[in-house]
Amino acid sequence: MKWRCAICGRVTPQPAVMLGAEPIGPKCARRAGLLKLAKRPGSRLSTGKRHAPQRDPKTRDLFEGLAA
Ligand SMILES: [Zn+2]
Repeated sequence: MKWRCAICGRVTPQPAVMLGAEPIGPKCARRAGLLKLAKRPGSRLSTGKRHAPQRDPKTRDLFEGLAA
């Protein structure tokens, strides 16, 4: 999936800041001061870093027991 910067409309390979569902490229984010804002607690902006997928301990493995 290609991200398009919400400010300049250019394709941005890795958005620096997510404004809701809208990606913002690193240059625009820096120019608009969004990087600092995104790091503030309670900010609705988020840095583009994706969270690693978390294992749900309540969910069993699909093929549990087969690999033993
Ligand atoms: Zn941009």
